[in-house]
Amino acid sequence: MIKFENVYKEYGNGVRALLNINLEIPEGDFVFLVGSSGAGKSSMIKLLIREEEVTRGRILIDDIDITKISKYSVPKLRRNISVVFQDFRLLPKKTVFENISYALEIVGASRKEINRKVDRALELVNLQDKKKAHLDELSGGESQRVAIARAIVNKPPILACDEPTGNLDENTAREIMHSLLKINDAGTTVIMATHAVNIVNELKKHVVTLKDGAIVSNIEKGGYYCELD
Ligand code: ADP
Repeated sequence: MIKFENVYKEYGNGVRALLNINLEIPEGDFVFLVGSSGAGKSSMIKLLIREEEVTRGRILIDDIDITKISKYSVPKLRRNISVVFQDFRLLPKKTVFENISYALEIVGASRKEINRKVDRALELVNLQDKKKAHLDELSGGESQRVAIARAIVNKPPILACDEPTGNLDENTAREIMHSLLKINDAGTTVIMATHAVNIVNELKKHVVTLKDGAIVSNIEKGGYYCELD
């Protein structure tokens, strides 16, 4: 269970990005964070992985207040909660396999374990046939699937995605959603910040709508994109 309790975020330049956020995300949930640009979606994700620190409030993951953990514990936090960004953040000169296996190599996994885990991750994003391809041979949708495979290769309990379909056409976006739903079915909690009205309305999941840093709607089941303006 993830809990935001009275969370405020004010950036150094005085911008108040989040105002008194209270939200519960149960284990295994699939939750969309929606709202116009600047509403505070990315800030919520950055606070969750401690890329930014809260100004006030608590964020609990399984009863541990992650706003209080030491900076030495942040890598451990990020093994439990993985993130996929819109701009992929992949290694452009490496192959698909190398991009995904990197995270396993730094923790000293055996070759056999690396192969098994990379294969499983590629299967979840339906990209088995591109294992040896170089990144520059891939489409935008394929690159995004590599980024997702890399994020889940260590089976994190939580996956956060910031606009993962943002730059993709409708069909490619649907393929990405298919992968994320499979990952969620396999037990991972998925948090997805998005503008994609059609996808949100079709899937009828947990939908949290933000406006100017505040939650203005929280529909736990059968959610839809609230048009606010
Ligand atoms: P969204 O993801 O919904 O587009 P963000 O969380 O990125 O919203 O931004 C919320 C507000 O915080 C915006 O006004 C944005 O300009 C501001 N903001 C985001 N990151 C920073 C930062 N690092 N420094 C200052 N202001 C920021």
